Parts: sequence; structure tokens; C-alpha cells
Amino acid sequence: MDCLFCRIVGKKAPAKIICEDEKCVAFEDIAPQAPVHFLVVPRKHIATTLELGDEDESLVGHLFRVANRIAGDKQVAGRGFRMVMNTNPEAGQSVYHIHLHVLGGRRMHWPPG
Ligand code: 5GP
Ligand code: ZN
Repeated sequence: MDCLFCRIVGKKAPAKIICEDEKCVAFEDIAPQAPVHFLVVPRKHIATTLELGDEDESLVGHLFRVANRIAGDKQVAGRGFRMVMNTNPEAGQSVYHIHLHVLGGRRMHWPPG
């Protein structure tokens, strides 16, 4: 299996890493859609949210809490920011290793496009 985000997590591919811990790595999105746009990625390879198991529940919560902390560090927490996980093609998923998008620094639109 050749997975881009497994390679980034394993330091086999470059990325602007913001922080990492034993469960996840956060790095800047290569094609930012907002002034702040980073990804929080579990070290564990999980292809889509549909593959999440009982054992992954705390991992998903952890991704959100890491995202909150970085959003605070980047001064967008109080203003507002958006967290998104895309699942499968119609939602626009292009990398099949789950990742939490965190977007901020501009007004977000609703409904999303
Ligand atoms: P998806 O479309 O799967 O929801 O999101 C994949 C995201 O990964 C996109 O926002 C895309 O810009 C980002 N991305 C794709 N390839 C790379 C890469 O090599 N490095 C980084 N940092 N981000 C990437
Ligand atoms: Zn992977």
C-alpha cells in the first residue's frame, strides 16, 4: 500500500509539520483554501471515516482536541474556524487516509460548496 499521508507521518515525504504526538501529526495543507489551513492526521492508517472502529473513538476525539489547540495558537479559535472530514468521492476526498481539515482566518460560507 502506498499512502501519501503514511509517508508524511513516517517522514518519508516532506511536509510543514506543526506538531506531532504519539497518536497524530498536524501539518500545513499544501494547497491552502484559507489563510489558516492545516490537517490533523492519525498515525494509524484508516482509509475513510467508514472504517473507524470502536477502538478509534478516543483517537477521533484526540484529533479534534489537537486541532482546537493549534487553532488557538494560530489566533483563529475565538474568531471561528471550520473542521471538516471528507468521506468518499462525492464529498471530495482525495487522500484515503483520514484527516481533519482545519480552516480559518476568513469568513466561511454555509452551505459549503
Ligand atoms: P481531501 O481532498 O482528501 O479531503 O483532502 C486532501 C488534502 O490534502 C487537500 O486539501 C490537499 O491540498 C492536501 N494534500 C494533498 N497532497 C498533499 C501533500 O503532498 N502535502 C500536503 N501537506 N498536503 C497535501
Ligand atoms: Zn495511510
